[in-house]
Amino acid sequence: MLRLTEIKLPLDHPPEAIAQAALARLKITPKELLSCTVFRRAHDARKKASIVLIYSLDVEVKDEAGILKRYVKDVNVKPTPDIDYKPVAKAPANLKSRPIVIGAGPCGLFAALLLAQMGFKPIILERGKVVRERTKDTWGLWRKSILNTESNVQYGEGGAGTFSDGKLYSQIKDPRHLGRKVLTEFVKAEAPPEILIEAHPHIGTFRLVKMVENMRATIESLGGEYRFESRVTDLDVDTHANATRHVRGVVLADGTHIASDHVVLAIGHSSRDTFQMLHDRGVYVEAKPFSIGFRIEHPQSLIDVARFGPSAGNPILGAADYKLVHHAKNGRDVYSFCMCPGGTVVAATSEENRVVTNGMSQYSRAERNANAGIVVGITPEVDYPGGPLAGVDFQRIWESAAFIAGGSTYAAPAQRVGDFIAGRASTSLGDIIPSYKPGVTPTDLSSCLPDYAISAIREALTAFGRQIKGYDMPDAVLTGVETRTSSPIRIKRDESLQSLNTKGLFPAGEGAGYAGGILSAGVDGIKIAEAVALSMLAS
Ligand SMILES: Cc1cc2nc3c(=O)[nH]c(=O)nc-3n(C[C@H](O)[C@H](O)[C@H](O)COP(=O)(O)OP(=O)(O)OC[C@H]3O[C@@H](n4cnc5c(N)ncnc54)[C@H](O)[C@@H]3O)c2cc1C
Repeated sequence: MLRLTEIKLPLDHPPEAIAQAALARLKITPKELLSCTVFRRAHDARKKASIVLIYSLDVEVKDEAGILKRYVKDVNVKPTPDIDYKPVAKAPANLKSRPIVIGAGPCGLFAALLLAQMGFKPIILERGKVVRERTKDTWGLWRKSILNTESNVQYGEGGAGTFSDGKLYSQIKDPRHLGRKVLTEFVKAEAPPEILIEAHPHIGTFRLVKMVENMRATIESLGGEYRFESRVTDLDVDTHANATRHVRGVVLADGTHIASDHVVLAIGHSSRDTFQMLHDRGVYVEAKPFSIGFRIEHPQSLIDVARFGPSAGNPILGAADYKLVHHAKNGRDVYSFCMCPGGTVVAATSEENRVVTNGMSQYSRAERNANAGIVVGITPEVDYPGGPLAGVDFQRIWESAAFIAGGSTYAAPAQRVGDFIAGRASTSLGDIIPSYKPGVTPTDLSSCLPDYAISAIREALTAFGRQIKGYDMPDAVLTGVETRTSSPIRIKRDESLQSLNTKGLFPAGEGAGYAGGILSAGVDGIKIAEAVALSMLAS
């Protein structure tokens, strides 16, 4: 099999043009081409009047060796690499103990799946509920302003990304193609097969729910065991004098002790009580940088036209996304975060009397508004000094301020961009109807973030208006606050992926500071499963 890359075709090409392009590229006849499949498809929209699709193709040809000889110097004609995942270990038939995975988000799910596939029969402990029950609780906040602090956007089966756009791309280095393993498992769990081909794939919320259930069925069929509504409240750490600290098990909220020498900690970025417990138990934790800001909403049609010009609305391109960065005069970096084309802004708090925003979309991305976080980078020493958990206190201050500014009902504070830039409170909203449920309160957002963040965002919005015409339109809506952009802590690990000072504990995923997003959390889950498996075989 050969991989042909950089095959460029116009947006409106007929299906047969793909094979014809392969023939033309290799200068062979149709009889010499045995098969041709698309491996990857991206688009280049830099010239809006002539957007091109860029393909990578896998082709079977009659004389592969001869063609390779002819194209030996061509970097775009190479043997198709073998990127199938190969397990690194196999559990013994007489498995003596079972690993524990705390958290059923993407990281915990992939750690559990891989451990189950290798035969290690993991026990998965999840503080929230099964995904269908959790969906009802989450809608309780969105529709009735009733927050369940144990079952919400952050907690429950599927983790934080379940009610999301399901964007599946990341900028991690992935030399072992573990991201491909994540995507392949998602497709087995009924994700749309296009995610294996599209350069910027997404899944959307409804499908994620079904996929999470299917992955549970697979893990259970391989001997894994789920326990929902099982919050881990303590670690059993062996701290005998002069001995290395070693985890021996966990304690649940109801007092149940579960023994294990191998515990994966895939708790996400919002499990603040668990962060505190880990710190109290002496697990090494340090503060890490994250970002804070607001969500912004525009008409999706404005973004489509700005990005795709006359091709806006073409179904192959779908709803357009964007990525923006601005270096503000006060030294702060402002950037767009978790952009959700054709989506909605969602209430994402897990704590009472706080307001947190985030974004989600369905697979169709057909809602009228585009939304994205507009966030400012912050660092521990400068912005929230005071110890490893100071970032959590900092987040709480602004989430509480947003709750109050929204009217203390879980409505979010909102402001027209025109008013925000002019520095005056909004008393009403304009043509763009904000999508946040349970609703918004027009107000002045400047009380909801530190001054340096407000002035940096003000400056950035005007600058973004020069990059995307209309981005700073007066009626665009800002909703606050976006504080859960990534974990405020890092639970540091050593080269064997165990906690720096507590052996047998494997900090993983976004909460531990080793992932940002669904795909990278899944990849980290795979790496952690491998590390746990190798450690179990060695012990
Ligand atoms: C609304 C929203 C939209 C998003 N959209 C996208 C997107 O489109 N694309 C993308 O890549 N990323 C998106 N993200 C980010 C993505 O969801 C996270 O990066 C990802 O879920 C992190 O995975 P994780 O497994 O490390 O942690 P999480 O998904 O947070 O999972 C952690 C799990 O651990 C459980 N847990 C915590 N503490 C305990 C305890 N003590 N005992 C038992 N269980 C515990 C929690 O209940 C939770 O289920 C979005 C996030 C949100 C909130």
